[in-house]
Amino acid sequence: MSFNELGLSPHILRAVKELGYEQATPIQQQAIPAILAGQDVLGGAQTGTGKTAGFTLPMLHRLLANHGRGGRRQVRALVLTPTRELAAQVGESIVKYAHHLPFRTLVAYGGVSIKPNLDAIKLGIDILVATPGRLLDLLTQGALTLSALEVLVLDEADRMLDMGFITDIRRIMKALPEERQTLLFSATFSDDIKALADDLLKTPTLIEVSPTNSTAEQVNQRIIKVDRERKRELLSHMIGRNNWQRVLVFVRTKQIADRLAEQMVKDGLDTVAIHGDKTQGARNRALADFREGKVRVLVATDIAARGLDIDDLPHVINFELPQVAEDYIHRIGRTGRAGRGGEAISLVSLDEHDQLKAIEALIGLSIPSEIQEGYEPSGKPTRQTLPGNKQLQSPSRERGHANARHNSGKNSAGKGQSAKPAGKRPAKGSGSKPAAPARKKEVRGEDTGFAPLRRLPKAQRDDYQDNSNEE
Ligand code: AMP
Repeated sequence: MSFNELGLSPHILRAVKELGYEQATPIQQQAIPAILAGQDVLGGAQTGTGKTAGFTLPMLHRLLANHGRGGRRQVRALVLTPTRELAAQVGESIVKYAHHLPFRTLVAYGGVSIKPNLDAIKLGIDILVATPGRLLDLLTQGALTLSALEVLVLDEADRMLDMGFITDIRRIMKALPEERQTLLFSATFSDDIKALADDLLKTPTLIEVSPTNSTAEQVNQRIIKVDRERKRELLSHMIGRNNWQRVLVFVRTKQIADRLAEQMVKDGLDTVAIHGDKTQGARNRALADFREGKVRVLVATDIAARGLDIDDLPHVINFELPQVAEDYIHRIGRTGRAGRGGEAISLVSLDEHDQLKAIEALIGLSIPSEIQEGYEPSGKPTRQTLPGNKQLQSPSRERGHANARHNSGKNSAGKGQSAKPAGKRPAKGSGSKPAAPARKKEVRGEDTGFAPLRRLPKAQRDDYQDNSNEE
C-alpha cells in the first residue's frame, strides 16, 4: 500500500518520499489509520518492522491538525523508551519524519548532563522522547509539565517492565492528563504487559505483525555446533575467512563482552564492546565507529543492543544464546531490516541445548544446524568457561582492559584482509593444516567472577543490574 492512500498531510508525505520509502510496511498500514482516527493502540511489533514511522507519522499529522491553538509551547507528545540508544534512535527518526513541520523535539536520557535538557525545555518543545528515569528527574525538578499532553507512546514496553521501570511508569502516569491518546508497543505479551495495557489503554485497537513470520522470511538462520571454549577461535576464523566487514556479536554478560572484544582485537579484528557499564559517550562513539565502518565487530549485551538501528547489517552472531528466548528474536531482528536479507548465526555448545529448544518452540521453526570442519564438538559438556580462556586474569584486572579497541595499525587485519590470531598459528579450517586444539583450562565461575550461566538467577543477569542505574 502506498503512503498516499493513508490520508497523511502532504508535508509528512514529502518527508517520507525524501527518505525513499515507497510502500507502507504491514504495521504502518494497520497503525496509521487507527492512530489518525484517534484510537488507542496496542501494537505487537518489534524494532525493524517500521514501527517508529507507524506511530510517528499519524502522531505528527494529529499534532499538526491542532497546531498553534494553545499559547506557550508545551509538550504535546511523549515517547517513553527503555534505553538511551532507543531514545536517541526514535528521536532521530521523529526529526526526519517531521522535517517539514514546525515542531521541536527533545531527546532526554540519563548518563549525560541534564542542563541541555533544561535549556531546551525553556525554549519550548512539542515532542519529548525520554527514558523513564530522566523524565522523572525533569518532572521532580519542576522543569516540565505534561498537562497539555495529547499523545503518549510506550515503546518496547516489555523491555521497560523487564528493566524494572514499572514503578517509574506509574509515577509518570500521574503527571499525565486522563484525556489523551495512548499507544503501547511491545514485542511480547506477558501477563504483566496485558495488565499494564488494561490500565493505560481505552478500548485499544489491536495491531499485530508476526515477528516470527517476518523473522523467518527475511533472516537466514543457522546454528553451528561447537564446544564453548572454541567459539572465539571459530568466530574470528569465520569473520576473516568470509571477509565480513560489519558483524554484530551478542553475548550475555558485560564481562564476556569486554573479554571477547579484547581477544578479538588480539586476533587482528577491530572490535569494540558496548554494554551498560560503558559511559553514554563511549556507547555512542562505539556505535558511530561501527556504523561508519571504522570498527568491524561490535560485541554487545542484549540491553545495550536493544533497538539498535544499523543500516546494512548483514551478519548477526549469537556467541551465546540468550537466557530469555524472546531476546533471540530481538537479536536477529537487527539484521534483515525493512525487507533486506540478513544472516543470523548462533554458535551453540552442548550446555545451551535447553535454550535452543525454547527458542525453536517460540519461533516455531527448527533452525538448521551444521558443524564446521576443524571445529567439531567433542560431545562432552563443558562447564562455563571464558571465551578462548587462554590468558586468565582477575576480573578487576580485566576491567582495566575494558572496551578493548585498537584502531587499525599493526594489530589490525584491516579491510579486505582475513583475520588471523596475531603472531600465532592460522585459524583452523583456513586452508592450512589444522592447528592443535586450544589449550583447555577449565575455570570455575567463582574463580573468575564469571558465574556459571545455568546458575545465574535472572535478577542478577548482567544487564538487569545495569538497568537499575540505566539513568
Ligand atoms: P523501525 O522498525 O521503526 O526501527 O524501522 C526499521 C527501519 O526501516 C528504519 O531504518 C526505517 O528507516 C526503515 N523504514 C521504516 N518504514 C519504511 C518503509 N515504509 N519503507 C522502507 N523503509 C522503512
